Amino acid sequence: MAEGKRPLPQPTPETRHFWDGTKAGELRLQKCAACAHTYFPPRPFCPKCASREVAVLKASGRGKLHSYVIHARPMPGFDAPYSIAVVELDEGPRMMTNIVGCPQTPQALQLDMPVEVTFEKQTDDITLPLFKPARISPGGSR
Ligand SMILES: [Zn+2]
Repeated sequence: MAEGKRPLPQPTPETRHFWDGTKAGELRLQKCAACAHTYFPPRPFCPKCASREVAVLKASGRGKLHSYVIHARPMPGFDAPYSIAVVELDEGPRMMTNIVGCPQTPQALQLDMPVEVTFEKQTDDITLPLFKPARISPGGSR
């Protein structure tokens, strides 16, 4: 564990379902009943058509690495170097996160590589969704 505490999000009524989800080991998105748009971050209406007919959906937890930056300087709660990444989920939305479980180098962090969610408990209230390189499925190389 790194020194100090990283800044943590504060759940609000709008994001409560998401943080309840990560605590339960689920990545939750929202889907609009009117236009079928799946979105993140949480909000009580569809960002595409403004409908309030939205439902919570459990995501697969799989996605791909869309972009990232490597920070070389330590921050409270982070050991340097560490990556701040954008993961594009299989369901479509993009999520800002960290990639863990591999070296924080451009060699290890390949754009478009498959990643899967992993959950890291921070406090009783907040469990953060982080991503790690996905295991190669049967039939894949090696
Ligand atoms: Zn919509």
